[in-house]
Amino acid sequence: MTDVQIGKSQVYVRSLGLGANAIGGHNLFPNLDEEEGKEIVRTALRNGINLIDTAYIYGEGRSEELIGDVLQEEAFDRNQVIIATKAAHRPEEPNKKDNSPEFLTQAVEEALIRLKTNYLDIFYIHFPDETTPKDEAIRALHQLKEAGKIRAIGVSNFTLEQLKEANAEGYVDVVEDEYSLIHRQAESELFPYLAEHSISFVPYFPLASGLLTGKYTQETTFAKDDIRSKKPDFQGDRFKKIVSAVDQLQPIAASYDATIPQLVLAWYMKNPAVAAVIPGAKQASQVADNAQALDIHLSATDYQAIDQLFAEFK
Ligand code: NAP
Repeated sequence: MTDVQIGKSQVYVRSLGLGANAIGGHNLFPNLDEEEGKEIVRTALRNGINLIDTAYIYGEGRSEELIGDVLQEEAFDRNQVIIATKAAHRPEEPNKKDNSPEFLTQAVEEALIRLKTNYLDIFYIHFPDETTPKDEAIRALHQLKEAGKIRAIGVSNFTLEQLKEANAEGYVDVVEDEYSLIHRQAESELFPYLAEHSISFVPYFPLASGLLTGKYTQETTFAKDDIRSKKPDFQGDRFKKIVSAVDQLQPIAASYDATIPQLVLAWYMKNPAVAAVIPGAKQASQVADNAQALDIHLSATDYQAIDQLFAEFK
């Protein structure tokens, strides 16, 4: 399997990574088991995944710490792993975002300590703040890149206008934004800009938080305190339409002897706009399942057929 270059950097990743927001992300999900979290990371690395996508805000540093612990284990070689992390939330007031050069520089230094490493492969500005000119923020990251502390520069959750400002000097290597078979807004304006400027794209929520795995039926309901009961994708007619489209993936998945999540992940891996897809997991068995998507080579016909099944979500 050929690894994919991230932007114009020297970072190369496998097209399937691991989203690590449920590794120690206690502020995002209830009842997470940290030992299971570490096992998720180990399972990913043992099964051919080399990109781990984390962030300061996942457990306010805890996700980074747990990943750092696993990478210290004898079985793993940190230099064979691509660590992507992000920052923007101020530790003392996490509702506030900060993109100032001072904040970003400090955030990188602190992430290095938690991850127990001396370089980050990809560092993203996690969210835009309201005041820092974006080219100024990226210039600070460019200096960190020249100093060898980070190897590739990313932004996440920026508007196209903010991205253009950020990329004024051509320093942005990668963008991470929401994109999935049912959230396809990025296709119309963002993707052409990225292609024109040799910027890679990493979609988040590729499994629509589990909705694209085929485990829900039209009858599934969610408790009031379940975060999914508040997400529009899990409500009313939209939920029913999505479940119905996902059901139609079953025969295509069967023709590859694959599960639905494997097929969906293979669709992103064949999508020319996607550099790497980073599904999350709550159990090691989910990563072991998802990793097998690396062995599925979707035909152009099936790629198009899946695209068409979800055409109404474009
Ligand atoms: P996701 O990848 O769309 O869904 C992952 C969830 O689907 C898992 O936690 C698990 O949840 C379920 N799942 C995964 N594999 C499965 C399988 N084989 N069978 C059945 N269920 C399975 O959503 P996400 O993890 O929230 O997002 C992916 C990654 O994107 C994150 O981990 C994070 O790294 C990144 N992200 C970035 C941003 C940003 O602002 N840059 C925002 C959000 C996420 P259940 O078991 O609970 O169903």
